Amino acid sequence: MREIKPNLDNTLRKKLTPVAWKNVKIVDGFWGPRQEINRTVTLPAEYDQCKNTGRIDALKLKWKPGDPNKPHHYWDSDIAKWIEAAAYSLALKPDNEIEKKVDEVIELIEKAQYEDGYINTYFSVVEPGKRWTNVYVMHELYCAGHLIEAAVAYYEATGKRRFLNIMCRYADHIDSVFGREEGKKRGYCGHQEIELALVKLYRVTGEEKYLKLSCYFIDERGKTPHFFEAEAIARGEDPEKSPIKESLNRSYLAAGPYAYFQAHLPVREQTTAEGHAVRVMYMCSAMADLAAETGDKSLLDACETLWENVTKRRMYITGGVGPLEGSERFTFDYDCPNESAYNETCASIGLVFWAHRMLQFEGDGKYTDIMEQTLYNGVISGVSLSGDSFFYANHLASHPGLYENKISRNPRMLPERQKWFECSCCPPNLARLTASLGEYIYSKSEGEVYIHLFIQSETELELGNKRVILSQKTEYPWDEKIEITVSPEEEMELTLSVRIPGWCNGAQLRVNGEAVAIEHYVDKGYFKLKRLWSKGDKIELVLPMPVEKIEAHPSMRNNCGRIALMRGPLVYCLEETDNGKDLNDIFIPAGSTLSAHFDKDMLGGIVTICADALIRDKSRWENQLYKRAETPKEKITVKAIPYYAWSNRKVGEMIVWMQGE
Ligand SMILES: [Zn+2]
Repeated sequence: MREIKPNLDNTLRKKLTPVAWKNVKIVDGFWGPRQEINRTVTLPAEYDQCKNTGRIDALKLKWKPGDPNKPHHYWDSDIAKWIEAAAYSLALKPDNEIEKKVDEVIELIEKAQYEDGYINTYFSVVEPGKRWTNVYVMHELYCAGHLIEAAVAYYEATGKRRFLNIMCRYADHIDSVFGREEGKKRGYCGHQEIELALVKLYRVTGEEKYLKLSCYFIDERGKTPHFFEAEAIARGEDPEKSPIKESLNRSYLAAGPYAYFQAHLPVREQTTAEGHAVRVMYMCSAMADLAAETGDKSLLDACETLWENVTKRRMYITGGVGPLEGSERFTFDYDCPNESAYNETCASIGLVFWAHRMLQFEGDGKYTDIMEQTLYNGVISGVSLSGDSFFYANHLASHPGLYENKISRNPRMLPERQKWFECSCCPPNLARLTASLGEYIYSKSEGEVYIHLFIQSETELELGNKRVILSQKTEYPWDEKIEITVSPEEEMELTLSVRIPGWCNGAQLRVNGEAVAIEHYVDKGYFKLKRLWSKGDKIELVLPMPVEKIEAHPSMRNNCGRIALMRGPLVYCLEETDNGKDLNDIFIPAGSTLSAHFDKDMLGGIVTICADALIRDKSRWENQLYKRAETPKEKITVKAIPYYAWSNRKVGEMIVWMQGE
């Protein structure tokens, strides 16, 4: 087994520590109401769905063949993510109703646990006796990982150890089954998740065995002979003829069938993001965690290589990743089709997780920029403004006709958010990220505090032996002004590092009213000011937000001759409700006036963008499908809304990338 040397290599050691979610209070602004809707609408709605679909009752282990609501092998993970979201939310704002429900579900989980620690509803009632015989596809370790994350969150939120103890027993059982020692299975999960969960369990318990087990799962992945084949043989199957292998072989994955599971190569040898997008994101998050805990630079190097590939070749402007519907996966460089974009909400959430871990090493704003871009676009597009319906896929363009005339409809692809899905990973994933968003705003390191995201909030943190209260007042992303107050309990020296977003030119900053020449103080995307701070010191930051036209790389074939509009971190789109049909005919000429207005009554209060545009004169087209190219263009004004807010009105056309120059 790889020797673990915790934190021996100081050069690699993670420099920053996030300020924990429970120490950050988000107030009003853009995110306060979103967290409130998450607590009062999303969490109850998701509980009802878990209840009505049988997910919660399945934990009673009473299901028999012939009964309705046959448990599915990933159901435990949906409940786990809901508990995790509820835990964060409860700690921020007590809610008796939700707390009672969480406690009831935890009691069911405890009762569903076997003597040896094992918990899984599917393998308890649908395929009893077959546990750990098909970790290739059956998500057993994935479900365990989500339950562990939920238990850690619940412990941190309430201080109650009950659920954590349950999950330690389960993790101990997993440790007794998997590993390189004689008699153990040399396996790993087809869907990464347990790896990052075990790091969380290690951090909260201090038990090194959980860190070692996580290292084992990451190190074992992609080694030959493939465990997935060994376990197929153990099941009495011919691995070459197993249905999954056959279907994967038919999928023509360039890197081979195991690329779908990121098991085509050992993780350190992977240089491009291949296969199922969520799995890549969770795997890389775990690799970054392990690099931070063990000082293993080779893992961080692999993360950086994959990061470059994802963010410079394979990511949508919204932070969406994984364009292909068929297997929720990456395809090839610059392949970002718009209408068929899959961009699973969970994959963007995973990108936020990964970015957040990467930025803690050096405090490099390149990670924070992607984290913010993804959060404000491809992540929150996943939930309706009302908080009770969800996108699984996040398209970059849409036409209702694509869905009205199909032989089969995949509910995940529909242009209207759905209340729930048969495979409902995304809704509770959004709920847990929204509830724990406080964790993404600030970090600290020795004598230094970082502000990553501009979110109206307050935190109290300890630096050395002194306490500092840090607060932000802002209407970001609508408004370009951010007021930061630094209040140490007594005068103290510290470095304040404030992110200057990559999208921003001409940021201005004043300290206690005095202008500071920002350019002299910026390092890796952060403005760094070391000085003596005293109670009530104020920083006023202005991040100018002109509307920008963005073009895509020339190799991104779908977007040649097209532009997207951005203002600050937000990507904009055109919707039929505001602009009529045939959005693809709209052309934004060079020099077009682009103006931004705050409309408090529209879509919960948004900044809209109006742009001068051209469109062909349809009255010149009689009953023709094609004609000589000579149709003059008419001047019109179009109105764009933030991408995340699309599909909250009537179903209609939508585009992000419009013709333009
Ligand atoms: Zn999902």
